Amino acid sequence: MPQRPKLVLVGQLSTHPWVFDAAARAGIDLVLVPRGDDTAESAARANAVVEVLPLDIDGNPEGALSALADRYRREPFAGIMAGNEKVVPFVARAARELGLPGLSDEAAAVVRDKRSMRQRLRKAGLGAPGFRVVGDPDSWIEALDLRFPVVVKPASGFSSLGVIRADDKDGLEQAVARTRELVDTHLAPGEGTAEQAGVLVEEYLDGPEISAESLVFHGEVRVCAISWKGELTGPYFEETTLRAPAQLPAEILAAIEAEVIGAHHAFGVTEGTTHTELRLVGGVRPVLLEMGARIGGGGFMHHLVHVSSGIDLAAEALRIHLGRQPLCWSEEPVPTGHAAAYLVPVGKGGRINRVRGLDVVRTDPQVDYVVQTVGPGAQVRCYPDWSGYPAIVLSRHDSDAAAVTYRDYLARTLHVEYEEQG
Ligand code: ADP
Ligand code: CA
Repeated sequence: MPQRPKLVLVGQLSTHPWVFDAAARAGIDLVLVPRGDDTAESAARANAVVEVLPLDIDGNPEGALSALADRYRREPFAGIMAGNEKVVPFVARAARELGLPGLSDEAAAVVRDKRSMRQRLRKAGLGAPGFRVVGDPDSWIEALDLRFPVVVKPASGFSSLGVIRADDKDGLEQAVARTRELVDTHLAPGEGTAEQAGVLVEEYLDGPEISAESLVFHGEVRVCAISWKGELTGPYFEETTLRAPAQLPAEILAAIEAEVIGAHHAFGVTEGTTHTELRLVGGVRPVLLEMGARIGGGGFMHHLVHVSSGIDLAAEALRIHLGRQPLCWSEEPVPTGHAAAYLVPVGKGGRINRVRGLDVVRTDPQVDYVVQTVGPGAQVRCYPDWSGYPAIVLSRHDSDAAAVTYRDYLARTLHVEYEEQG
């Protein structure tokens, strides 16, 4: 019997089941490099994981790389894949040094830096809002020649942490100060000081938000699904719902695909899977917000793609990182329904007691997954100081209208209960 292929999965949170379940379906064994906030027990228990390999990627990347190379020499593995945004450059470098499929170092750096993405889009003649980089604390003034409203954000952030809309000069000054503070507290440890990490100010793109999940194999891009996130107007941008497939006219879907494919080429992203966020300016013109070279939403975007297009996104991504052609390159998948994700809003923040209403939702036949990432006793902070979704509910429906009705029901039913402040 041929040996099962083995792949090193870096930093995929083991309580998020989608990539692990996909590996089991595809007959792939995983060596899991756990995320810093994962627990050893949970990592070892995850589906398809045959080995746990702790590496200190943040604290000692060189040491982590040589430990990985040692592990490879002991017994080679056939691929390596990033399970979160931060490890994308590390994984690209490891793949290159070990001769495994992956992104170039350059592409990995581009997709981790919103400045570089904006510059590349411009150069390729693709849509991009006006923007300024704010280095030192006083240079926010240079952003005053942008058209208000603007959005202030860390140059290499995630999950809308420190992303703030500003409508006028005073708002801009305050937002820049607040974002810098959040960068220093939460992002700078891995990326240097706020000066180096950088804060970006860009013109506000007015229109609903969408997301596109893609596979890319040897430079050929397939946009697998387009999801609808709806109107998010700020001042903070907490995501709560996604639905796929997005109910949009064929010509807008085609324009989105063209923009997303163009962005892959502009960024040099040739291998793997991507999560691209866009705004539909005026409801019609797609403009990229950003691209991540990984499965979106800590893995849950897999579910939206799988249901709405029939493409087993996570399994296909694993195949690409093993150097294999994705199955959907040669056989047409069949959609099975409308998928929805509901992220329970953090609300006021504090120490979590429980998420009220979740037990009823768990047994609902429309619901495929309920994942609680921050358990009782955990401290969560409210936006713009993001620290985790309390719970994620993934469901499937016969129509988009049914998905909307269900979202409204969840919004009425699910609430985070916090411990009383003593
Ligand atoms: P992050 O990496 O933190 O997710 P994003 O650039 O994706 O940063 O910004 C987070 C959210 O903020 C977006 O999903 C979007 O809703 C909003 N946003 C960011 N930039 C803009 C912009 N230029 N115009 C409109 N909304 C924006
Ligand atoms: Ca984003």
